[in-house]
Amino acid sequence: MTTTPQVTLKATPTQPELALPAIGQGTWYMGEGLAPKDQDVRALQQGLDSGLALIDTAEMYGNGAAEEVVGEALRGRRDDAFVVSKVYPWNAGCKDTIKACENSLKRLGTDCLDLYLLHWPGTIPLEKTFEAFQRLQEQGKIKRFGVSNFDVDDMKEAYQTDGGSECAVNQVLYHLGSRGIEHSLHPWQREQNIPVMAYCPIAQGGSLRRELMTDATVMDIARELNATPAQVLLAWAIRPVNDQRDVIAIPKAANLEHVEQNAAALSLQLSGDALARLDKAFPAPGHKISLDIM
Ligand code: NDP
Repeated sequence: MTTTPQVTLKATPTQPELALPAIGQGTWYMGEGLAPKDQDVRALQQGLDSGLALIDTAEMYGNGAAEEVVGEALRGRRDDAFVVSKVYPWNAGCKDTIKACENSLKRLGTDCLDLYLLHWPGTIPLEKTFEAFQRLQEQGKIKRFGVSNFDVDDMKEAYQTDGGSECAVNQVLYHLGSRGIEHSLHPWQREQNIPVMAYCPIAQGGSLRRELMTDATVMDIARELNATPAQVLLAWAIRPVNDQRDVIAIPKAANLEHVEQNAAALSLQLSGDALARLDKAFPAPGHKISLDIM
């Protein structure tokens, strides 16, 4: 019997430990006309039906349009989803964060976010941001909080800041062609029990983005497993490392076939041999490199 691969968020003073499926759904460009809005909505609903319970969005995406799509997808079924949104760095001071969060909640049609992230490091002192996040928790408007696009030194600073040790995740760019986090960021997060949330897991951005889906090794392995290159990339992103799984991948898919493939990637097993071949074709860097970002 196979069980759905899961990643556990640690307990916080207000929330118990929580296990989530290792693949969720991104929403960047949803609600912006790339696909018809009702298709975006249906894609997210189909993802929920297929076990992709985590939905990642942000006030930035389409200036709130993606949050509105998520709100529509969740109408009448809010409890099926674990909803993540993000605040702009310039809104990350106490009063502004609370206002930004309330606006996100309105667009999402919910009274509470499961996770609220600082979208990237900015100039507002982190203690002000964490204070705002804690205030939002007290008000019942968010359950957990975390950060995004933080490199290892940013994470160390955040962790030393009041409230920072409660960070649930760091959301960063990570895929087979962009493995920089494996040198020091991921190991450090693992020590603190802070999972990685991997954006662009099928390489829409970051280094080698154009080459990965048509790479010979990726395509050979996909063929052998009767899978698609995107599924191989997803299964690789969420693979256990030293028997521990702590990466949640959040591919965005508006195409319903893509959604189904992404959900099926939860049960795709990469053998030791396949992993070794991918490692050889796309080795992890042996030295620290700056965090890849979109
Ligand atoms: P992804 O790597 O998820 O790529 C998305 C693209 O891949 C879309 O064009 C989609 O097409 C296509 N796709 C999805 N599934 C498949 C499949 N099975 N086979 C082939 N193609 C597929 O990139 P994103 O940039 O969207 O990253 C994912 C999410 O991460 C974002 O949507 C957002 O929520 C988050 N993010 C966070 C950032 C941050 O700074 N914190 C930065 C960037 C992203 P289609 O839509 O047509 O199905």
